[in-house]
Amino acid sequence: MENPIRIAEVLLPLALAQAYTYAIPDGMALEPGDFVAVPLGPRTYLGCVWEVGETHGTNMKLRAIMHRFDAPPLSDTHRKFIEWLSAYYLEPKGNVLRMVMRVPEALDEPKLQVALVLGDARPAKLTPQRARVLEVSAEGFAMKVAELAQAAGVGPSVVKGLAAAGALKEVGLPPHAKFQEPDLNAGAYTLDKAQAAAAQDLRAMVAQRGPKVALLDGVTGSGKTEVYFEAMAASLAAGKQVLLLLPEIALTAPFLARVERRFGCAPAQWHSDLRPRERERVWRGIASGEAKIVVGARSALFLPWVNLGLIVVDEEHENAYKQDEGVPYHARDMAVLYGTLGKFPVVLSSATPSLESLMNVDRGRYQLVKLKDRHGRPELPETRLIDMTREKLEPGAWLSPELITATNHALQSGDQALLFLNRRGFAPLTLCRACGHRLNCPQCSASMVEHRFRRQLQCHHCGHQEPVPNACPSCNEEGKLTPVGPGIERLAEEAVRLFPEARMAILSSDLSRGQNLRDILRGIEDGQFNLILGTQLVAKGHHFPMLTMVGVVDADLALESSDPRAGERTWALLAQVAGRSGRGEKPGRALVQTYLPQHPLMKALARGDRDAYLDGEKRIREMAGLPPAGRLAGIVISGKDGNETQRFARDIALSAPPAEGIQVLGPAPAPLAMVRGRHRYRLLIKAGREVNLQAFLGQWLREVKPKGSLALQLDVDPYNFL
Ligand code: ADP
Ligand code: ZN
Repeated sequence: MENPIRIAEVLLPLALAQAYTYAIPDGMALEPGDFVAVPLGPRTYLGCVWEVGETHGTNMKLRAIMHRFDAPPLSDTHRKFIEWLSAYYLEPKGNVLRMVMRVPEALDEPKLQVALVLGDARPAKLTPQRARVLEVSAEGFAMKVAELAQAAGVGPSVVKGLAAAGALKEVGLPPHAKFQEPDLNAGAYTLDKAQAAAAQDLRAMVAQRGPKVALLDGVTGSGKTEVYFEAMAASLAAGKQVLLLLPEIALTAPFLARVERRFGCAPAQWHSDLRPRERERVWRGIASGEAKIVVGARSALFLPWVNLGLIVVDEEHENAYKQDEGVPYHARDMAVLYGTLGKFPVVLSSATPSLESLMNVDRGRYQLVKLKDRHGRPELPETRLIDMTREKLEPGAWLSPELITATNHALQSGDQALLFLNRRGFAPLTLCRACGHRLNCPQCSASMVEHRFRRQLQCHHCGHQEPVPNACPSCNEEGKLTPVGPGIERLAEEAVRLFPEARMAILSSDLSRGQNLRDILRGIEDGQFNLILGTQLVAKGHHFPMLTMVGVVDADLALESSDPRAGERTWALLAQVAGRSGRGEKPGRALVQTYLPQHPLMKALARGDRDAYLDGEKRIREMAGLPPAGRLAGIVISGKDGNETQRFARDIALSAPPAEGIQVLGPAPAPLAMVRGRHRYRLLIKAGREVNLQAFLGQWLREVKPKGSLALQLDVDPYNFL
């Protein structure tokens, strides 16, 4: 018999469900988790070794692995995580691996960077510029050409000239700055009694090193952050890595500064506008275990953790944890899965926990850790409803006299006021007063939203933009197009009229991003601004100590939706916005404008009675068999041709295998019946909690092959019902 051939199953970060088999070249040491380069067709791909084994001859012509990277191998737990996630969402494993391998540059040995230090030779010609460079260099730091040139205030050619003359010499620099070791006692507060008890519970969980989940539940400002910092410290003390997940938008400089103060070193960050070099540094630092603390957005779950010992999910109720494009996963749920696989605890923190988490507490699966009081303050801000059915506002005005008075009062007292309206742009709708024509997106079944600052109409679903026309495109009458309803920009016009002295800041995701957004947030913290107009961007985690009055301009907006979680979401949003008020020395209050003052949500909000509202919601979900009492999956069928799409959707519905405890609803036109010129139909699959939904879906959809322009998108545990 011939000698066995060593083979490896290599998973590629492509839409592939299975790994491919390759031969391992003689002399190449390889273990599962190693990153390699392999040939596929005419191309070379990077991949990850899933298994290694041997075979005795085969009639397959095996191609060989070309190269093994020196990056540390992906851990067993991480590979298991990929497999479980893929099985849960019925997503090809390769697509999940792709989320881990987003930074291929990090697989190589980090390149050595060249820097300059003082050399032995003296230059023959010493110009004043050259002298300055040598002076800077004499301070003893190795600096790159550009850095040295900048420090000396000269052009890079001066520096290069000195290097050529031997007056400066090259040395190798480690390419990435090292991650500092956290100092676990650096900035710990003395916790109050409630905090200390909660911290003790979490530390005990960390000490047990089991896969347990805690729900840390306490109103905004009750000191949850300081409490989960203690859990992080305990995990770090045990030599483990720690991941703190935040909704991307809450990843602000002040928050990072807080982590830095607590642990005496800057944490690694992970979010979408990280520079490529920093992505490499963090990816590599996680893989080597050198980076101990990561504060990141949801995709940080997919960093190549080697020694993860705790995940904290802050604002666990946030929808931002659900990814809808690509692999549709929920980062909170996957954090819990990771903890189970890695046998470590997960802490979910929120002032308005999701019903999912609360029901898991009811079922005894999660441990409830409760913080009742607002740190140093007894209550949520006083909240009052303003019954808009009784207000007679002028057309184009949105603020009631009571809200105007309260805003003026806050501004005159030297405090800040916040007016919250969760709608971007100037007006959500533009109608022609002559013929009634409504300006819609040419590719979507949605109206165009006017953005007056940019002088554009924009579709919020496909991004299509066009200038605001002068004449109605339907009847050609000029000057008849009229904005209908308020957006944040239109509210700004009203605010400028009413509060001409105010120093106004507008926070809306389309107006401010990245550094600009960070600057505005800092300006608010510093008191540079005193009137803040904001969309949901302001609701998340910010700490504005001078803010004492929050006005909710239209509290009913989010309630008008077919989404089963609309009420829960509205509650979370309004409670979070109201909770921005009175976080500093002075008490705060919140005024809520609503046309539905009798709605259970509004009544509970005015009483500050979260549990009463959520209990009602829970009962409704239980009666309807909706999540978290039951399970859902959504399928969107889309295609260029309406009839063909509808037929395909019907055929799929008809092909569903019979199954007990599972209902297939639809197809029905999706609420957004057309996006980017594609017609959309929705199927909803409803199942009891005990049903194996994945098995059903897998069997059903295995044979479904959309052709031509048709596409099928499966969403297990959908959060977006558009
Ligand atoms: P939450 O996360 O529940 O919203 P935070 O942890 O942000 O609450 O606490 C609210 C404010 O109170 C923060 O400014 C925080 O620094 C401060 N704080 C919390 N706990 C303490 C403490 N034990 N001693 C002093 N200040 C504290
Ligand atoms: Zn559109």
